[in-house]
Amino acid sequence: MENIKHLEEEIWQLDLKVDNEMEFIAPYLIKVGSEYIIVDVGPKCGIPELERQLSFLGVTKDNLKYVFLTHIHLDHSGGLGTLLKNFPNTMVLVHRRGKPHLIDPDKVLWKSSIDTLGWVAEMYEKPDPVKEENIIAINEKSFEINVNGSDFIWYETPGHASHHFSFMMLKNKIMFCGDSVGMYIPGLNEALVPTTPHPYRMDSGIESINLMIKQNPEKLAFAHHAIRPNAEGLLRKHIDQLKAWQICVRDCINKGIVEEEEIAVELSGVDNESARLFKESENFGGLRKALVGSITGFIHLVNQE
Ligand SMILES: [Zn+2]
Repeated sequence: MENIKHLEEEIWQLDLKVDNEMEFIAPYLIKVGSEYIIVDVGPKCGIPELERQLSFLGVTKDNLKYVFLTHIHLDHSGGLGTLLKNFPNTMVLVHRRGKPHLIDPDKVLWKSSIDTLGWVAEMYEKPDPVKEENIIAINEKSFEINVNGSDFIWYETPGHASHHFSFMMLKNKIMFCGDSVGMYIPGLNEALVPTTPHPYRMDSGIESINLMIKQNPEKLAFAHHAIRPNAEGLLRKHIDQLKAWQICVRDCINKGIVEEEEIAVELSGVDNESARLFKESENFGGLRKALVGSITGFIHLVNQE
């Protein structure tokens, strides 16, 4: 079926083609024994397409064991409550601080998403609540779970969000890094670009990347969106990229260049991978919007120095 990629022996990527855009929202499906795990379900507007693809692959309410959530931003968790109406036995693993927002998305999650994302949040649609009995909240900084013989180790990786987790599938040493190592866009000549929306925390973001380097992953599974080898090289490259952005945005502010689109022009001079996405508003509207949000995050960061 179109939009389903079989990436590894037991891993698929399901492109939900949200807003008609490929390589944007694409949850991973992992098979463990005879059961399945979905990593980040995507926003509510993508759930009909997700359910269509799951049904094509034989995933049912009886064999979808877990949803693993890296964090609760709408493009990762917004569709969860809707999906679970048809998958009532599936359990969700999420950071303890994410749990209350899944149960009562109206209170903070929806309002803050509208503030940060504007029309993109409307396009994602307002999340349905998740039932408390479906949620397993992770209280520790590191957490291990064995699912039908496969081990997954979770690591708290704040920076992009204070409640962000990454986890490594031990068997194949793939680190599912959510949004904590930027976005990776194969269709833009393999561009790696920062995902640093306000309130991005650079110190903890870099600490999180260093923590992942220590685990010796072989591959990185980016939430947006690809699995790539040479994990350590990519992790180190992203640290350098974040530092280059910080210097560039600081220079911009000092020179009185304060608008995101103007800063984007300056950043394009020091980061040619991000430059490729800045130029592509037609085919990569959602990702480009995320990149502008990353600049906003750096403006706040530099203004707080
Ligand atoms: Zn996010």
